Amino acid sequence: MWLPVSLNRPLVWMALMALPACVWISDAALRMVAASIVAFGLWDAWNQVRQQRLRLRLSQDAIGLAGDAMVISDVHNRILAVNPAFTEITGYDSQEVIGRKLETLAAPRHDKTFYQTFWSTLKATGRWEGEMWNRRKHGDEYPEWLKVRAITDQRGKITHFISLFTDISAQKARERDLRRIGYEDPLTGLPNRRRLHDLMSSRLRHLRAGESLDMALIDIDGLKSVNDSLGVEQGDRLLARFAQRLAGYMAGSVVGRLGGDEFIVIRTTTFNDHDKWVATLRDHMCRPFEIHDQSLRLGLTIGSCRAPEDGRDSGVLFQRLESAMYSAKRLGRNHSQRFRPALDKQDNPQLALVSDLRAALISGDQLELHYQTQHHPGSGALMGMEALLRWRHPQNGMISPGDFIPLAERHGLMAELGSWVIEKACAQQAHWQNSGMPKVIVWINISALQLFQGDLEAQLATCLERYRLRPAQIGLELTESVLLDERAGDMGPRLQVLRDLGYTVAIDDFGTGYSSLGYLKRLPVDKIKLDRAFIRELPHDKADAAIVTAVLAMAAGMGLEVVAEGVETQEQCQFLINAGCTLVQGYYFARPLPADELEQLWAPLPLAEGAS
Ligand code: C2E
Ligand code: MG
Ligand code: MG
Repeated sequence: MWLPVSLNRPLVWMALMALPACVWISDAALRMVAASIVAFGLWDAWNQVRQQRLRLRLSQDAIGLAGDAMVISDVHNRILAVNPAFTEITGYDSQEVIGRKLETLAAPRHDKTFYQTFWSTLKATGRWEGEMWNRRKHGDEYPEWLKVRAITDQRGKITHFISLFTDISAQKARERDLRRIGYEDPLTGLPNRRRLHDLMSSRLRHLRAGESLDMALIDIDGLKSVNDSLGVEQGDRLLARFAQRLAGYMAGSVVGRLGGDEFIVIRTTTFNDHDKWVATLRDHMCRPFEIHDQSLRLGLTIGSCRAPEDGRDSGVLFQRLESAMYSAKRLGRNHSQRFRPALDKQDNPQLALVSDLRAALISGDQLELHYQTQHHPGSGALMGMEALLRWRHPQNGMISPGDFIPLAERHGLMAELGSWVIEKACAQQAHWQNSGMPKVIVWINISALQLFQGDLEAQLATCLERYRLRPAQIGLELTESVLLDERAGDMGPRLQVLRDLGYTVAIDDFGTGYSSLGYLKRLPVDKIKLDRAFIRELPHDKADAAIVTAVLAMAAGMGLEVVAEGVETQEQCQFLINAGCTLVQGYYFARPLPADELEQLWAPLPLAEGAS
């Protein structure tokens, strides 16, 4: 057996030289000295062996424990050894692959040039790193991040290769999802509203002389009754089939889904047959769909318009399509209506409101943030502030965010509106931090669309820097429905990043989105805000009382804080104190107020003259 004993250690040499002396030297004293040298030499050699073995075992354990797969191969790239992570990723046991060439595991995705470059880099520099596709034992292909090192002997000749790799399929799928989320409707795979804006703009830009765009906004009548009678799953199936038929029929045109039961078609044409085009589209899409052994004939409401006659801007054209569709709806089900200028605004108060909101965002002076305080229910101590948006319309007075935020989302204004709120709330927090107000978190409501579309993280970072705030001074409220919205993909990692940055994250309106506490357990959040629907009837409603008690107990078990929303009475507050709730918000303590009014309530009183 090869002993890992180094011969260039002096004690080992001295022992070797002293060994014959133990036999030949007659002097007993000298013999004892020689024997002691031999003994020391043996001890040193044994010690070396022990340490080498320890090192070997440690490195084997480390390789075995490593999360990265490891392959050791010879100069012909034949596999000599693999670690357990390799088996976990590829599905092959070591016995199944030892002796096989590593290339035989590759997926046939890379061409000859790829491998030529791979080998020439490896041989020239001794290393290679990059993405490569391999195939698992069961046949599926996966991407891996591979690092290869060539091992050489003393003369520099390659003797072995060590390959380390990790499976990056989950990471790549997530990247793909992230790219898709913003642009694709997950149910039908069609472009979504955001993408449709881009596609329409692009078609408008590329219009040549003599060409026009025909556009139709199609709304399926009575999808709700399909959902109610056959179930949501069948409703979804119908939508997917509808999308498929529409895309097939309009091949070459832009076909997308705006959400719900609304679809859009845009075709570039040199014909002047808009009405006929809409009529044939309707005929084709009204043919029955076979769903759940039933033949369903759909009613369709279609609003249509034509560019450039009806406009050259995608935002304007979208509005015009909608106003044509609303007026078609007013005619009853199953009607088509082409846009007429008279339909704009006067027939559609919602659209008038959208254009007013656009103006409000530009002028900025109709929008305000009010702040509602959060308290400890027992002591009444101030624990936080929630920023709530207000719109003071010049003619209609105060408009509730519940009314205009959905409009802003529908008409592509939410990103801008959201930025306005973040900017103002940060400025206010900075002012409070410097003016002796109690130092509490300012909570900002974040809309779903800010998460899907805008670059929320960058926007927050810019504002924090501008106002010299720390993330810990800002809280983010995301409604439960946002977290459940499939368009957002898996929110867990994104929330984790926000929390790692130091923001506090709360789930707003908890209990309205039908998620379970078990689901929330997987989400990295700090707080949940129990929707006021559960508080309203407290303490008399037994079901609500039981729900609130259970949520508080379970949240405590999960280390989550609960804020009870909409606390209006002393009785509700007492019930919550008894149930262990430590944070409340509601009219009982304070209504949302403009910042200056809050300051009067909470800023320390100025010292009387002469006081020190
Ligand atoms: P929310 O975030 O759950 O805000 C709490 C709402 O409850 C506020 O309504 C507040 O005025 C109201 N409220 C508070 N205490 C009581 C109470 O004791 N009784 C009753 N009946 N109501 C109470 P508001 O201001 O009308 O806001 C409605 C929703 O609009 C908010 O619900 C939030 O989802 C959204 N919102 C408000 N501001 C913004 C914003 O800046 N950005 C986004 N994305 N959404 C916002
Ligand atoms: Mg909120
Ligand atoms: Mg809420």
